[in-house]
Amino acid sequence: MSTTTITTTPPAVSPPAVSSGSAHLSPAALEEQHHLRHLRHALTLAWQCTPTSSAFCVGAVLLSSSGTVLSTGYSRELPDNTHAEQVALMKLGSPPPEGSVLYTTMEPCAKRTSGDKSCVERIVDAGGIGTVVVGVKEPNTFVQGNQAKELLEVKGIKYLYVPGLEREILVVAERSHKKEE
Ligand code: ZN
Repeated sequence: MSTTTITTTPPAVSPPAVSSGSAHLSPAALEEQHHLRHLRHALTLAWQCTPTSSAFCVGAVLLSSSGTVLSTGYSRELPDNTHAEQVALMKLGSPPPEGSVLYTTMEPCAKRTSGDKSCVERIVDAGGIGTVVVGVKEPNTFVQGNQAKELLEVKGIKYLYVPGLEREILVVAERSHKKEE
């Protein structure tokens, strides 16, 4: 008897959000579509995480200021309990160029229960990253009231929350977490 309600296999990759009608969109709408496109890329990475009940499945994409993908990462892609943002920075292996933009499906952690360095600290210490774009705020599952926004902004790093993909992001992020109805 199996009544799985949440799929555990990746869906087909959605087509790019930009349609032929995008020429009529305002600059703000075009910018939003740009951000959503990269968040969707991060979401496809989040699907590659090995689910665990003790952490989220998150994807991250690091972009240069001109829009080139510099690095990507997803939760636990590298050994130990590595986080998506941490993996993207580790794989880059050098400081991100000035003005880089980090997309992450879920806002970076500001505090880790394990005592490890948080992703906010790693982003600040790496230098170069000017903007962090997030698809959802961190639910209070493991840490109460994540302070990512405040801690990044005080260091001069822009924090941009782009709504629209929350539902899908959370299904992926929490797909191994027990849900009783
Ligand atoms: Zn983290």
